[in-house]
Amino acid sequence: MDGPVSTLLVLAGKVALVTGGASGIGESIVRLFVRHGAKVCIVDIQDDIGQLLCETLGADTCFYHCDMTVENDVSSAVDFTVEKFGVLDIMVNNAGIVDPPCPDIRNTDISMFEKVFAVNVKGTFLGMKHAARIMIPRKKGSIVSLSSVSSTTGGMGPHAYTGTKHAVLGLTKNVAAELGAHGIRVNCVSPYAVATPMAFGHLPEKERTEDAVAGFRAFVAKPANLQGVELTTNDVANSVLFLASDEARYISGENLMIDGGVTCVNHSLGVFR
Ligand code: NAD
Repeated sequence: MDGPVSTLLVLAGKVALVTGGASGIGESIVRLFVRHGAKVCIVDIQDDIGQLLCETLGADTCFYHCDMTVENDVSSAVDFTVEKFGVLDIMVNNAGIVDPPCPDIRNTDISMFEKVFAVNVKGTFLGMKHAARIMIPRKKGSIVSLSSVSSTTGGMGPHAYTGTKHAVLGLTKNVAAELGAHGIRVNCVSPYAVATPMAFGHLPEKERTEDAVAGFRAFVAKPANLQGVELTTNDVANSVLFLASDEARYISGENLMIDGGVTCVNHSLGVFR
């Protein structure tokens, strides 16, 4: 569901590229950006659903096939966006994958470990690098990357995923340190769990049922700090919208937690009032 439309179009006249924009959180970001007046290039490896989203949203969007682990793809996607819409104001590094649950480190599949780092860390860095190539001469721009509660807290995801999300935060701070001199802001957002296709990617197709979704929701609701509210992809998109927009014009190097406080409280000792 898209929710109520704000009358203020905070991205009017802006051009954005959203990686992993065909599905889940990325799709919500694309839809929200378009509703706020942006032109958006959707970048993904899932061509069918990416193209379909593009056709649904119309002329303010385009689709480009791009594997974020391949530098030539990322460079071409950025150039395609600029050719199509004239500039690049906003880069959203959203594409990401997660390794399957593995409760024993001794059984870690190293090829999977490397794959998660390739998409989540190398892909994010390449997005930052090629966005900077366009933004530095213009002396403005906003780069927002998707991290996770696993950017700051252990035990909330598999090892590779947690390592990559700490790395996304590190890259965000370091690239913000360099690009601030050019007027470019670099931030990341760190959501708690949302029931997107990512959460079920490790399950065989036939097990990705409504029951599995309900079970996932119940599982994540229990340890949440904020009760009675369920995190949605739109909540994440709204935070990305804020950081991408000029409303956040003096915010850079920030990691915005979208977690209802779950990473800043420890309920294991009970609540002292
Ligand atoms: P998703 O699987 O629905 O979407 C991820 C998208 O990235 C997909 O469309 C996929 O095709 C694309 N993608 C994967 N590998 C790619 C590659 N090599 N090149 C280009 N595109 C690629 O997952 P999601 O939950 O929407 O995740 C989006 C981001 O949000 C990820 O970075 C994820 O780590 C982060 N995040 C998700 C959650 C959650 O609970 N869902 C929580 C915190 C952070």
